[in-house]
Amino acid sequence: MPDGYEKDPAMTNQYCPLCRRETAQLYFKDRKRDYLHCSHCDLVFVPPAFHFSYAEERAYYDLHENDVGDAGYRRFLSRCAEPLLARLPAASRGLDFGCGPGPALAAMLEARGHSVALYDRHYANHPQVLKEQYDFICATEVLEHLHNPEDELTRLWGCLKPGGVMAIMTKLVISRERFANWHYKNDPTHIIFFSRDTLRWLACHWQAQLEFVADDVIFLTKP
Ligand SMILES: [Zn+2]
Repeated sequence: MPDGYEKDPAMTNQYCPLCRRETAQLYFKDRKRDYLHCSHCDLVFVPPAFHFSYAEERAYYDLHENDVGDAGYRRFLSRCAEPLLARLPAASRGLDFGCGPGPALAAMLEARGHSVALYDRHYANHPQVLKEQYDFICATEVLEHLHNPEDELTRLWGCLKPGGVMAIMTKLVISRERFANWHYKNDPTHIIFFSRDTLRWLACHWQAQLEFVADDVIFLTKP
């Protein structure tokens, strides 16, 4: 994957890390970073030159990660967990991808009789769990952190059984005007931003069934 980011992105089409086309151009610029937009899949992304290193990312997460026992955080996650629980057969087996240091969502699902494997690049780096197959996969507040979304999402989708559901939680881009004042983009570890159209593109690419369950909760079901 090329990380040669042209210094004058307004002039040249740039490489999109999701659809892999050279169809991205400058979308927005703030004091710290540039943001590009892909005209093919509608992804907004921060070029690699502005990404944190692995160590910088870890230091940031250690300061900001959520606590498994925090009631507000569990309420937040329940907006994804409850609709997911409503459609899971009893004793399903899932994967919490990007679970963080305190896997609150996994605890909530296990309390209802499902089993949940954990994967996190920083806190549960067990690559063998990504070689197995699951009835469901949760990716809550994780897509926006992916450095190589095409590779990482393809691998993740491959871990889902036919008929299985991938439950995603991420805040979506609405418009350039809203983006300018959007706090979500100011987190330095947030480097890619999906819109509804990006998710439609992904669903089409995967031939998946797409459901917008809430403003920031999306389910993709594998055929
Ligand atoms: Zn694209």
